[in-house]
Amino acid sequence: MRFTKTLIPTMKEVPSDAVTPSHILMLRSGMIRKLASGIYEWLPLGKKALNKVEKVIRELHDEEGCLEVLLPALLPKSLWELSGRWAEYGAELVRLKDRQGREFCLAPTHEEAITELAGNYIKSYKDLPKIFYQIQTKYRDEIRPRFGVMRAREFIMKDAYSFDADGKGAELSYDRMFALYKKICAALSLKAVPVLAKTGLIGGTKSHEFMAPSDEGEEELVYCRCGWGANQELAHSKISAAKAESAPWREDPRPLEEVSTPGVRTVEEVSAFLKMPEEKFIKTLIYRTAEGFACVLVRGDHSADPAKLRAIIGEDARLADEKEIEEITGGPLGFSGPAGLKIKAYADNTIKYCSNMVSGANKKDAHIKNINYPRDFEAEFMNIRTVKAGDPCPECGKALDVARGIEIGHTFYLGTKYSEKLKASFTDKAGKDLPIEMGCYGIGVSRIVAALISQNHDDKGIIWPRAMAPYQIEIIAASSNGPAMEKAEEIYEALSKKYEVLFDDRDVSAGIKFKDADLIGIPVRIVLGPRGMKTGECEIQSRADGKTEAVKLDKILEKISDFT
Ligand code: ATP
Ligand code: MG
Repeated sequence: MRFTKTLIPTMKEVPSDAVTPSHILMLRSGMIRKLASGIYEWLPLGKKALNKVEKVIRELHDEEGCLEVLLPALLPKSLWELSGRWAEYGAELVRLKDRQGREFCLAPTHEEAITELAGNYIKSYKDLPKIFYQIQTKYRDEIRPRFGVMRAREFIMKDAYSFDADGKGAELSYDRMFALYKKICAALSLKAVPVLAKTGLIGGTKSHEFMAPSDEGEEELVYCRCGWGANQELAHSKISAAKAESAPWREDPRPLEEVSTPGVRTVEEVSAFLKMPEEKFIKTLIYRTAEGFACVLVRGDHSADPAKLRAIIGEDARLADEKEIEEITGGPLGFSGPAGLKIKAYADNTIKYCSNMVSGANKKDAHIKNINYPRDFEAEFMNIRTVKAGDPCPECGKALDVARGIEIGHTFYLGTKYSEKLKASFTDKAGKDLPIEMGCYGIGVSRIVAALISQNHDDKGIIWPRAMAPYQIEIIAASSNGPAMEKAEEIYEALSKKYEVLFDDRDVSAGIKFKDADLIGIPVRIVLGPRGMKTGECEIQSRADGKTEAVKLDKILEKISDFT
């Protein structure tokens, strides 16, 4: 493709509403254009990248025996009422009326539609198992559309749905799809980690999210090289009595001892004041929950994870204010502790194995030393703390990694939630009518383009992984006319027979061409300059590592295969 014949409107400036590298680079390289909040147009370069992602996903689903369909984006309310989600889904569902006043939604996902379709045709156990998939536009009125196509209101998803005769079959389908997702990530050159996940609005039991580690990620993920992984809201690390036994703080319980700590409140302050490490402290946080007051206990050097905490004490719980703390504990803010406290206590699992701990004395300017469970307080032990990098993996005990992650795919084992409601049943061998067992599996196709860029760029621009680049080779003539340009034309014609080639034939300076080439990030670049014309050479450059090789013009066809 000639640069002058396509449309690649590159930009020098950073667009004002873009903050993440992938969003900035997609706009600056002219891949996408914003039409309205969370609504994007894909320009030729962007569409080529999107097509590559779609192609990999489609081919590998086909290879796995999944059946491609295309369902409508516009779905009637009646269908969504059958599942109960017309009422449940809330403001994210785009709802509209036709001219007769009949109500519809623009589908954010297709469980209802596919279950209705499958239920119509699947009659017997002989028709099972089946996996349908589609690559289709989804609509979600996201509360905060942001980061470009990463969190858009209109976006492209690959959604697949499995149908099986029983739970065992459904698990097999789940495992097949799980393996397929790993294969797809590898083929896309996308680094991704499957993690345990919550099931959310779609419902169901077994669920994994595929997370692409990236600083742009909206979630925190915890993972190990052994393959174990979880989002921070579900993650835990290895804690065992045996391990704790050998820890330095495991000692014989000593008698409680009150110490004067005038004006020192935070763990940091008291730890410095008493010259004791923060891990010897119990942080006591008092919350007002729907059921009354409760306290949350975590080790002094740990912090309570907000998502884990919300799951335990409720979405509406809030920290108690100073007056409430006085009333409940008898002491001021900063001096609360579990010993003698008469409210419900939730303690992080690590607390169970600690001994001779320090916490507030529930009175002004005093702390208590040598607090021990269960001698001095009662608590319900739970997974509350934020897992940190270096904590031991719950599976293998090796050091865990913690990173930000972009959710690029999601797998759910649904069971019969939708098939029961939409009456999708089949007759088993014994002639009994049973609901079909289902699973659903999503991949954010448009989000993956952004995720790939977020994982592959430098301060100059995109660095496309070879397999996913919109073009494999870019040809640049350093001057816009003369022998270098003529030679470039020739090479372009020859290489185009075998490769996808972008030829920068614009009448602009070499500097602009090089800058744009770095920005667009085509993996291999052939540069023809006036000096080379004299020696009969050009340069082949690799965008990823900047490696440059001078190559004789008549050897380009041979040499280029080393680079692509
Ligand atoms: P998120 O937690 O990011 O909102 P989700 O759990 O709502 O995602 P699913 O319903 O599982 O997402 O959708 C399947 C996939 O579709 C996601 O893994 C993600 O890659 C993609 N996706 C979801 N919402 C958006 C969006 N607003 N813009 C772009 N891609 C999205
Ligand atoms: Mg969502």
